[in-house]
Amino acid sequence: MKNNRRPDLGFLMFIILVFLVLALISPFFLGGTLTSSNTPVAVSTSEIVQMVKNGEIKSMVVVSNTSVKATGTDGKVYTADLDIISEQMLLDAAKDSPTNVAYSVQQEKTSIWITILGNWIPLLFSIFLLVFLFRQSSAGSNQVFSFTRSKARLYVEDKPTITFKDVAGAEEAKKDLLEIVDFLKNPKKYQVIGAKIPKGVLLVGPPGVGKTLMAKAVAGEAGVPFFSVSGSEFVEMFVGVGAARVRDLFEQARKYAPCIVFIDEIDAVGRERGAGIGGGHDEREQTLNQLLVEMDGFDPYAGIIVLAATNRPDILDPALLRPGRFDRKVILDMPDVNGRKQILLIHMRGKPIAPEVDAERLAQLTPGFSGADLANLVNEAALLAARKNKNIITMDEFEEAVEKVMLGPQRGRVLSAEEKKITAYHEIGHAVCTAILDNPKEIHKISIVPRGMAVGYVFGGSGEEKVMYTRDELIKKIAVLLGGRASEEVFLHTQTTGAENDIQRATDIARRMVVEWGMTDLGPVTLEERQDMVFLGREITKSKNYSEATAQLIDQKTKDILEEAYEMAKETLSERMERIHTLAQRLMEVETMSSDEFLSLISEG
Ligand code: ADP
Ligand code: MG
Ligand code: ZN
Repeated sequence: MKNNRRPDLGFLMFIILVFLVLALISPFFLGGTLTSSNTPVAVSTSEIVQMVKNGEIKSMVVVSNTSVKATGTDGKVYTADLDIISEQMLLDAAKDSPTNVAYSVQQEKTSIWITILGNWIPLLFSIFLLVFLFRQSSAGSNQVFSFTRSKARLYVEDKPTITFKDVAGAEEAKKDLLEIVDFLKNPKKYQVIGAKIPKGVLLVGPPGVGKTLMAKAVAGEAGVPFFSVSGSEFVEMFVGVGAARVRDLFEQARKYAPCIVFIDEIDAVGRERGAGIGGGHDEREQTLNQLLVEMDGFDPYAGIIVLAATNRPDILDPALLRPGRFDRKVILDMPDVNGRKQILLIHMRGKPIAPEVDAERLAQLTPGFSGADLANLVNEAALLAARKNKNIITMDEFEEAVEKVMLGPQRGRVLSAEEKKITAYHEIGHAVCTAILDNPKEIHKISIVPRGMAVGYVFGGSGEEKVMYTRDELIKKIAVLLGGRASEEVFLHTQTTGAENDIQRATDIARRMVVEWGMTDLGPVTLEERQDMVFLGREITKSKNYSEATAQLIDQKTKDILEEAYEMAKETLSERMERIHTLAQRLMEVETMSSDEFLSLISEG
């Protein structure tokens, strides 16, 4: 803001200077006319020459080549047009005049002004510029010369109004961060007693769980400024800029302490050194080094807390995690049912929500949703309500929004009668296997309305999340996944491509049962290890620890598991032929079926 005012001042100065100069020079040129109160009388040149000869003219101003302005002895003013010849005549006459005619010659008036302004403006401007530059650099901020500084605007410096109240769930994290808040409110207290406060805190968690939100909330709770910069911004354009920016960021932070410096996506700069492709002393590395230097540099009681967010703590450079740097980790996890409910309630605040809308039920429908997904969900519901010209958001909109967020926008294509029939049997197959083999509560809705990538789906979620599965449960999970294909085969004696994704997921589980979880007679041995490769970012590679012979065995065992589950699914469906025909028929009619209707139909008889 200070910087914006300066040019204004300079401009004002410039205007004042121009006026001053004008005021100074105008009497000189305008003097003749200004002092004479008479309006000039236009006469011919020869008349003026005559008057000069007669001694009736006191003084005159000759504007070369164009005109003359003469003041008579009686005070009258005359003007006449001139050309080169008449001008010479006039001047000759003046010399011969009995009275001493005072005369001056000037260039044509307007051209004089243009020349003067043309000469003065650049000069004034350079003076103004010099003064401006001088004031800038003497103020200690060499902004004009340093393009790294221009990024300073990016550091959102404000005191966030967000507090812990706006972050739902994450109670553990809040508890951990409370100490930081207290320190920022009163650094002296900690200094007196010699208690050490971490300089850096790493917020770890998957995308959308509210890391950025939490960082702002810490600043908001403590009521301190919040400087935010994203790791990817550091590594943006020019070599050496990243390091300069880090320096600049901390310079500003020191001025505003106590404050929070938030580095989002720190993995962009903080990746383990020498591990990237291209290695060596690259830009990122210099930036990281500068960050380490700055973090070591400031006094622990300066009142600066550096928060950093990442979803890849595993790839961070160990030097970043050393004591005195980011030696504290705060984990933000995907919200559980209760967390999701709280997040939904926060985002429903201040929106016209129908009283029957049940946040708890919605939370149960949305396992795996992050805070950001849930925020998006509430917004989608509001958009849908607005589109329908409703002034209140009902459960219908929320359910539609859940599906939308989960599966992408509704597909604008219609199934043929045959496709519809196959899809109905396929989905009923999944649903029946879910109800019988897994948990009826997992089913919320069955639909054959195509959406996103999925043609039809069993839409569910009991809200229960498991941390561990038994072999039996896994087989049943696979059976549920294969239930669609089983149904196609049992009832329609056909196989479709619609089962592709089911089969992929089923195979993945089966294979992991063999090679990772040791659930076959190959024994409790890790045959394959999944590894996140630092070099390749997100890429997952598998290291194989077995011979060709074992490879064949693994394939065989995987196939056995899949067959076992597939048989289980077919059996489950075959035992309920009648009811499944009824269910499929009904689903073809209504296209979407609630879990209540499904469960009452399946349990009939
Ligand atoms: P991250 O930085 O972890 O990727 P953000 O902090 O950017 O996630 O979260 C994105 C949005 O999701 C937030 O602006 C907020 O609206 C919502 N959100 C995420 N987590 C929560 C939460 N725990 N409570 C309330 N809102 C949340
Ligand atoms: Mg973020
Ligand atoms: Zn399927």
